[in-house]
Amino acid sequence: MSCSQSPHLGEPDRHSISYFPSTNYDSVNVHIPKGYSFTSIPNKFTKNLILAQSNLLFTESVDDTLRKQLIDLLINRAITKKIYTLNKAIQLDNICKLEFIADLNTIKNIESELVSIYVNRLSESIHPLFQNKIPYPNWKNISFNKLLLPCENLPVPKRAKLLPNAPREYRKGVHRGIDFFADWGTPVRAVAEGTVIRADHNFKEVSSALRSELLQKASQIHRTPSDVFEHVLLGKSVILDHGLKFIPGYRVITIYAHLSHINKNVKPGVKIKKGEQLGKTGNTGMQASTLGKRDGSHLHWEMILQNKDGEFYTGQGLKYKELYPLLQSMFK
Ligand SMILES: [Zn+2]
Repeated sequence: MSCSQSPHLGEPDRHSISYFPSTNYDSVNVHIPKGYSFTSIPNKFTKNLILAQSNLLFTESVDDTLRKQLIDLLINRAITKKIYTLNKAIQLDNICKLEFIADLNTIKNIESELVSIYVNRLSESIHPLFQNKIPYPNWKNISFNKLLLPCENLPVPKRAKLLPNAPREYRKGVHRGIDFFADWGTPVRAVAEGTVIRADHNFKEVSSALRSELLQKASQIHRTPSDVFEHVLLGKSVILDHGLKFIPGYRVITIYAHLSHINKNVKPGVKIKKGEQLGKTGNTGMQASTLGKRDGSHLHWEMILQNKDGEFYTGQGLKYKELYPLLQSMFK
């Protein structure tokens, strides 16, 4: 680099190299006093650049823990790639001024690389847990009586991560339902006729610290305890009881979780018609909500079947190849 010169021996160290990053770190100006040698932009600028971008990275739904890990990996990879390239150099008498610009395409490329390695592979490797003794319902023989989609015009997502049986590493558990990603406040409706048995009108979010502590304990016992799941992670929820006739041989309930709002009339004991509005989507029960943010808004929806052998979430035990068509066929 034209500016690099050996420092003069005995010269007092009054100046040193100064860095002036832009607010979002997409460019950095470097001022190099005469006599100093400069090699490259320090790694901390690459790290800050990626952290400044982190809201835009890995926006497909990965859970909080995975997202954090992916961002760390992205930072490590970006550092090896030299994200900043020299754009301008001005040589003055006593100082050399360089302008570096961040190459955001390289970051995007590393991001897609990581998604294909970690996120998509995770989806493929989803296998049913407890394959052995539990007598799962024979899903192929069950008629779901053509449910309505819980959010109008929002089809069953394709990605295995959003479907039943997906691992949820942050709570050492398994996903039991379908995540329908929808803007905050999207109307949520009953998929079938039923009776309200839970409606958290007065739901209070726990603190972020307590939520983390509970998840920590979950990870120590390697599963999500039911109280943590039901009372904290589901957030503001509605549960409908569809009785014993909806699917012969089972009692059936549906769960609508992470809501931001529940309609006033939706109270325990109230009969709800198919398609009747229950509330609106939100992110209650999620980490972002405990921090007062609206990130990650989605409807978590579950259908649980119960009989003498136990409780089963819809599609439990199915591989993706069979699961996705089953879920698609359930809805009109
Ligand atoms: Zn979910």
